[in-house]
Formats: sequence, structure tokens, C-alpha cells
Amino acid sequence: MIKVIRNGIVYSPEYLGKKDILILGDKIAEIGDKIDIIGIELEEYDASDCFVVPGFIDSHVHIAGAGGEGGPRTRTPELPLSAYIEAGITTVIGCLGTDGFTRNVESVLMRAKALKEEGISCWIYTGAYQVPTPTITGEIGKDLALIDEIIGVGEIAIADHRSSWPTPNELLRITEHARVGAMLGNKAGIVNIHIGDQHEPFKILYDVINLSNNMLKLTQFLPTHCNRNDYTFFSAIEYLKKGGFIDITTSAYKYFPEYEIKPSKCLKIIYDQIGNLDNVSFSSDAGGSLPAFDANGNLIRLEMGLPKANYNEFIDAITIENLPFNEVLKVLTTNPAKILKLNNKGKIEKGYDADILIIKNYKLNSVIAKGSFLMKDEVILKKGTYEYIF
Ligand code: ZN
Repeated sequence: MIKVIRNGIVYSPEYLGKKDILILGDKIAEIGDKIDIIGIELEEYDASDCFVVPGFIDSHVHIAGAGGEGGPRTRTPELPLSAYIEAGITTVIGCLGTDGFTRNVESVLMRAKALKEEGISCWIYTGAYQVPTPTITGEIGKDLALIDEIIGVGEIAIADHRSSWPTPNELLRITEHARVGAMLGNKAGIVNIHIGDQHEPFKILYDVINLSNNMLKLTQFLPTHCNRNDYTFFSAIEYLKKGGFIDITTSAYKYFPEYEIKPSKCLKIIYDQIGNLDNVSFSSDAGGSLPAFDANGNLIRLEMGLPKANYNEFIDAITIENLPFNEVLKVLTTNPAKILKLNNKGKIEKGYDADILIIKNYKLNSVIAKGSFLMKDEVILKKGTYEYIF
């Protein structure tokens, strides 16, 4: 079926004005003022008075579950497809996390394949917190070169009591293997870095670049959890000014407002200092456990993030922080697509994948992923695996 989304206020993420969008199969075929194809019946959707934007990309989700820091009963479950749809996420990047011992990359890969079958786009990182990091083939570079879904390695933990404390040389080796594997497989080869609570967490990343005689660039890394507290966030802004990418975790603030910096507020601070949000992304860290430890390292509380946090912070950045709509939109669309080299993602443009959100009165109204409606007029049409079980 050929679809046309009519009369929406389109942000590509740049403002395009009131347009019709023609969807042919899973691609955007045309954007124009009034699209009609003579002799062909079109499935029409009227998006008058709505914003029409690219589907969101979430670059850090524990798609196969994670956690367990409080023992087996604190292992988190796999999130159903509906958790992504209600958040407007049409592309997700899965990762393993703290538990690289009893969980494995294979299960993340299979969950990614399931989410793809269910209708959204999905890639993964090989590896986990630990160094040496677990892989599928035994080599980071082989995983990247040979397995389509694997686009990087991570999350490798640094500056955290759960980290393996990799030396700069060990991290350099990981980065180089990711880079070469990615060249062979035509991927981004990003090293996704879990930033912990320790002061000056970015130092080891600068050390790695220095060790390579500046032949590697900071853009090989995507450090996440950059808003976990004030000193980490201010180091992250310095890192951003030196040319790196930074990723802001959206789901933790709700549970730990006493030390996390609110993601929408982070965007405001960065925008005021730098004048753009070009090298910043949001990710939810959904499915991951959010543990709180006391000064002696004992677990005192455990929460779990959900993908919806991205959407809520996106709206807050526009409505509370008054940031420009197109700039904030980039943080969830073109920026992660650029950082992760996801071609045909993150834009409403002819030839791009038809991943589209329709937003009415700042509420998510409809979600189209690869040309199919997964949510229409606030009704989720496909819940995923669990609708067959329950
Ligand atoms: Zn993490």
C-alpha cells in the first residue's frame, strides 16, 4: 500500500513547513505541497495541526535485559516492542552492560533480530563492561566485520567500581580493533563508554588519543551517562569542546534527581555555551538497572529505566527550556545517525527509511516504522512478543 501523510508541519529536523509525505514500501518517496498520483488509491492520513518528525534513535538500551547487581532477583527483563513504540523509538542500539559474565552478546543479537522482525530497526554493540570484553567470534574486529547487526563495541566501563579498570593501552587496542573491524564491515566502529562516578573520567580517553599520536580521534568514542552528576557533566562539556561526542542518559534523573542533571537542562546549558547541539545525543539506558550504592559500595536501591524518558525530555527541552525545536530534534535523530553512521536514518528526506512520528499537542499520536503504522491515534497496533504470551 502507498501511504501519504498530509498537511503536517514537517521538521526534517529542519523546518520544512506544511507538507505531504509520500511513503512507498519502507521508504520516503516524495515530500511536497500536495501529492497525488493519478489512478492510484492512496492510504491517507491527515496530520493537520501536528508536527511530523523523524522516528527517534536510541543509542543505548539493554534490549535483552541487564542488571543483577542486587543478586539474581534484580536481573531486569527484556522490554517488549510496545515500550519502544510508546516512546517514538523506531531505531534502537542494544548493549549488554554490567553482567558480561552470565549474560552474553549472542542473546543481545537474537533480541535485536526479534525486534527487527517485529518492525523496528535494531543494531547492537558487542562487548560488555569488562575488559577483555566478551564477543561472539572471540574478536571485536571479527564481530564488526562479519555480523551485520554489530556496529560498535561497548559499553566498556571506565571510572566505575564495576569497571575492569582498563589501562590506556588496553583501551587503545579495543578502539583500534573496533576501528579496523568497522572499516572491513563498513560500520561506524564506535566504542560506547560507560562513564562512572570517579572524578576526571575522560582522562583515559585523552590518554588513548595521545598514545595513538593523535591518529585516532575522540569521535571514535561515544561516552554515555555524561549527566550522572555535576562534575561529570562539566568535564563532559570540556570534552565536547575538544571535539568529542557526548551522550546524555535520560531515564536516571527521575530516580536520582539529587545528583543527576536533568537531560533537558543539560541541553540548555550546552546550547547556551556552544550555540548548537550538533555532537550531543540522548539515550534512555532503558532495561538497565539503575543502582544506588552507599559510601561502602553496598547496594541500597535499584530502579529500571524506560525508553519513554527520551520523549519526555525532548518535550521538556522545547516547552520548559524553550530551545529551538529543530535543534532538540537533532539530539534524537540526525546526531545519533551521524555518530553511528546509520545511513538512511534520522531524517525526513526522499530515499530515507520511512520512520516517522506524528505529534499532536506535544503528545505522541502516531508512529510509523519502515513504512508501517505501529501506533495510530495513540493506539499501539503491535505489542510484540508478549501479545502472543499473555
Ligand atoms: Zn552504563
